[in-house]
Amino acid sequence: MNGGPPRVLVIANQKGGVGKTTTAINLGTALAAVGQSTLVVDLDPQGNASTGLGVERAHRKVTSYDVLMGDASFAQAIMPTRIPNLSLVPSTVDLSGAELELIGFTERNYRLKEAFAAFVAGAPGRFAYVLIDCPPSLSLLTVNAMAAADAVVVPLQCEFFALEGLSQLLRTVERVRANLNPALEIQGIVLTMFDKRNRLSDQVAADVRKHMGDKVFKTVIPRNVRISEAPSHGLPALVYDLRCPGSQAYIKLAGEMIQRERLGSAA
Ligand code: ADP
Ligand code: MG
Repeated sequence: MNGGPPRVLVIANQKGGVGKTTTAINLGTALAAVGQSTLVVDLDPQGNASTGLGVERAHRKVTSYDVLMGDASFAQAIMPTRIPNLSLVPSTVDLSGAELELIGFTERNYRLKEAFAAFVAGAPGRFAYVLIDCPPSLSLLTVNAMAAADAVVVPLQCEFFALEGLSQLLRTVERVRANLNPALEIQGIVLTMFDKRNRLSDQVAADVRKHMGDKVFKTVIPRNVRISEAPSHGLPALVYDLRCPGSQAYIKLAGEMIQRERLGSAA
């Protein structure tokens, strides 16, 4: 991975509140902590990844919106965070207008891909991983992310309709693969907010594993109040409370992901 282009992972699920942003922030922090230079791209107008990484609105000078509109280069939008090895392309609420404005461009699905490709051409080894945090929809923003990415990571909350939501997402990935990005893979499914006292959680997890096999990460992220407290301090959970079960799970997930990536590239 050293010196080569980064591995670009989209964190997507059309449902809100399933742990996309939490996964982008904490997986990003865990990867950075083991020396993998990582970039989080905030592609959600809510800007939760930016806030959770401690970047206040006033400091978001150049954003993912400017990049999509062609008003700034990708490189110009990259800023450091207070976490060593972890950078951010921030977003603001401006991005909520992007859906409509993008329709005016002929290559509307490839805006992010093209901006990103220009950056990688100039600095191929700058990052090992790029994690794109998506809004809770399968809109043009998510499609732009999927068109630019190598693989999709799906955070899935173990609740009643989880599998239905998952099949809708998988159909979108199929469509993107057929029309925009034939190389797009499903990198993995992360079970989030797992509650071991809840029998439904267990049952849904077993169902997801039955349908998706080893696409589902062995590491499960438990429901843990420390994880939900961290963003209001502008800190990843890993920095807010390294020892809590949620942080430990994200560290394990990063290890499993790196191993999976190595096996993948060896194949
Ligand atoms: P999404 O980006 O998919 O909308 P978030 O990552 O923002 O979801 O998570 C939704 C809410 O749940 C947030 O308040 C977040 O802090 C909280 N949360 C996420 N993961 C966990 C967890 N493992 N344990 C407890 N709370 C969590
Ligand atoms: Mg989010």
